[in-house]
Amino acid sequence: MAALVGVTGCAGVGDAGASATARTRVSVPAPASAALGSSTPAAPSAGPTSSVSATPSSAMPSPAPGSPAPGNGPAPSPSGPPPFSAKIEKVSRDDVRQSWRPGCPVPLSGLRKITMTYWGFDDQAHTGVLVINKKVAEDVASVFGKLYEMRYPIRRMVPVDVYKGSDNDSIDADNTSAFNCRNATGSGNWSNHAYGLAVDLNPRENPYVYANGSNAHRNADAFVDRPLKKPGVINSGDRVVRAFGQIGWGWGGSWSGAKDYQHFSENGR
Ligand SMILES: [Zn+2]
Repeated sequence: MAALVGVTGCAGVGDAGASATARTRVSVPAPASAALGSSTPAAPSAGPTSSVSATPSSAMPSPAPGSPAPGNGPAPSPSGPPPFSAKIEKVSRDDVRQSWRPGCPVPLSGLRKITMTYWGFDDQAHTGVLVINKKVAEDVASVFGKLYEMRYPIRRMVPVDVYKGSDNDSIDADNTSAFNCRNATGSGNWSNHAYGLAVDLNPRENPYVYANGSNAHRNADAFVDRPLKKPGVINSGDRVVRAFGQIGWGWGGSWSGAKDYQHFSENGR
């Protein structure tokens, strides 16, 4: 009779639960990262999808033996934070009303919404939402799983629609985001964000720094130098850069000239 015990409240319970789950996962062909060779399919029992614990909605008979899953018993142990979880879902028009429009280089059907755990600057676990291209959703979720495990702090994680699609306002809010149908900074070409193939991580701690050393956000002035030892700051070759590197993504902090310390992308640009 433990079926309805809280914890998993998210996915449609009841009758055709299977189809609801299928919709969640359907276009996420499991380990698409095999070619990249490194996204540690270590998870002993949770399935082939590395650290992305795909929220086993209704019928998960027993907790995974290897992990401290809050399955049946006394739910979250008081001794530690919850395990990382990520749920990947399709995106509706309403999800991206401000940040997507006809003519964007990726169709709505090519986007996914990842609802996942992140570690906050307050040393607590939080839940955030990242909108991203469906072909990289699982890989990127696995990277955020690693960031969570290493307790890399993230300030905020909401879709840029919260800021009406304004990259400037999202940056000022130190918001971590991915998809935004906009041009690249200082350019008339689509940004990789317009394809959902780039992530900006803690943009205040990791500003875009012009070749002359200036940056456009006064609240980031204390973060333009590298290397810099402060929470949330990304430095060359550190664990954050390596975690993205493991799915083949490049870091804007390694560019010559202007440096985009917050920026990771599939093609490195
Ligand atoms: Zn970016």
